[in-house]
Amino acid sequence: MPQYCETPNPTEWDERMGPASKDHTDFRRYPRGDAASGVREHYRKMRSRQTVAYNQRVREKYLDFKRPMGMWEVIEKLNQLVDVSDPDVSLPNAQHGVQSAAAVRRDQGPDWLELVALIHDAGKILFLWGCEDDGTSPAEQWGIVGDTFVVGCRLPDTCVYPELNPLNPDMEDERYSTVLGCYQPGCGLDRVTLSWGHDEYLYQVLSHHRGNRLPEQAMAQIRYHSFYPWHREGSYRELMGPKDGEYLEWVHQLNTYDLYSKSDEVYDLNEVEPYYTPLIERYLGNEPILW
Ligand code: FE
Ligand code: FE
Repeated sequence: MPQYCETPNPTEWDERMGPASKDHTDFRRYPRGDAASGVREHYRKMRSRQTVAYNQRVREKYLDFKRPMGMWEVIEKLNQLVDVSDPDVSLPNAQHGVQSAAAVRRDQGPDWLELVALIHDAGKILFLWGCEDDGTSPAEQWGIVGDTFVVGCRLPDTCVYPELNPLNPDMEDERYSTVLGCYQPGCGLDRVTLSWGHDEYLYQVLSHHRGNRLPEQAMAQIRYHSFYPWHREGSYRELMGPKDGEYLEWVHQLNTYDLYSKSDEVYDLNEVEPYYTPLIERYLGNEPILW
């Protein structure tokens, strides 16, 4: 585990940022009826196409670690992507990362947590080399974003739009449609396969990156932050292992900043870059990361 550095003193730039003004109940309200079209359609595709077989195929395809790119460059490129699954955000994803990191800074959280908040969605960069068929293009994001779930066992009713669960072909396969499915009780989250998307992609990319000095806590936050049926709704308890209670606390720590920092504030990326680049280098080194 690395030594944590002190958060630098607040600057004028911090003072510009007042507290997030929305109430917590204003977030994650999933629209119904006509208003639901985009978000619900995203979940319809995700739920019906993210199967065990799909997961095996895309993991093999995208985890080849052949594309060198620095983390800040990735963040900048995310200024071209708006998450179609998010009912709370219509700004590009780079803004969401900076807003989340700024919220950690406002609370004087540890610097590694500030970095995790900044980069937690960096796996969405998949859109640059994705394709429609895999759900990894900007138009088809069902293989990049949205709440994740476990593939290989029964979908719980705690998923958003649970009426879409029967559309998943694995729910008709007796190996994958029971509560435990293909898993052993208490096997631990590190041994289950989550639906494919930006969480797992970034986790795998950083696990493979030699310069990675992020603590274990950060890696769990990255890997499980979209796993709402587990971290918010309390499902999948039968799969949890001895470490996962701790994981849950860690994931809740990031979630506060991921969710409740969302606002209309737009940052000039050029203005904040000199602050974030040294932070990135402190924990990820200055060699390019292989995506
Ligand atoms: Fe995310
Ligand atoms: Fe996020």
